[in-house]
Amino acid sequence: MPELPEVETVKRAIASIASGKKITDIFVGRKNLRWPIPTSLNKTLKGVICKQPQRRGKYILIPLSTKQILLIHLGMSGAFRIYKSRPNFQKHDHIAIGFESEEWLVFSDPRRFGCVDLFKEEYVLSHWLLKNLGPEPLSQEFTPDYIITKTASKTCSIKTFLLDQRNIAGIGNIYASEALFRAGISPKRQARTLKKKRAEKLVDSIKVILLKAIDAGGTSLRDYIQPGGEIGYFIQSLQVYGRSGEPCLDCGSIIKELKQSGRTTFYCSLCQR
Ligand SMILES: [Zn+2]
Repeated sequence: MPELPEVETVKRAIASIASGKKITDIFVGRKNLRWPIPTSLNKTLKGVICKQPQRRGKYILIPLSTKQILLIHLGMSGAFRIYKSRPNFQKHDHIAIGFESEEWLVFSDPRRFGCVDLFKEEYVLSHWLLKNLGPEPLSQEFTPDYIITKTASKTCSIKTFLLDQRNIAGIGNIYASEALFRAGISPKRQARTLKKKRAEKLVDSIKVILLKAIDAGGTSLRDYIQPGGEIGYFIQSLQVYGRSGEPCLDCGSIIKELKQSGRTTFYCSLCQR
């Protein structure tokens, strides 16, 4: 499932063909994804100019010249492809946008957990999917003090805390596991027991891991921006995620896995306390 770095990579790819460009054609292949696709999409978007795409958590926001915002979430399996001319649409291609440049941006999503919405830009802060999101982890708002204050009243584990989008926006299972490993913090630790030093370590680890992954995405993006190339996923160099039963790259003991709030966590019980 795409997390902040993957969404950031997709956003940059979309920017490369949509920013400042006029939409001349739209294809909507079905009525709903996770939620209904706005019926106005077909009529509204033709002739509209896309502005610089933004990202908020795992959401891509494309501001339009009509003072509206096109919102996209990749869900579990959503991905974009870019074409130099109108392609033949495939089974899971649900939405496609054609530009004046004749390029096409195609959104496919086999599992249909993704979503698309169109709303007036004045509602960006109050939109139901966006209004409860916590701070961006790469922003200056996200500090050790923020973590300490926010966890004070919580009874959950630190891993569960990190996954809750109301606490921090954009982190999912992969990067939560990786950041906790880098910070040497057990995923089972009660969130509220984090003191200043560990909170500092955690904030630093989250920022470093996300930035590294964004860099890796930027590198792989060069290969993806080609006709029909899929943008949405790239291979990360992961230290613990998906490595249960393999040796810890730091200490050599065996990486373990456990279920927390229905999600699998990977960790080293020696390195993480
Ligand atoms: Zn270890």
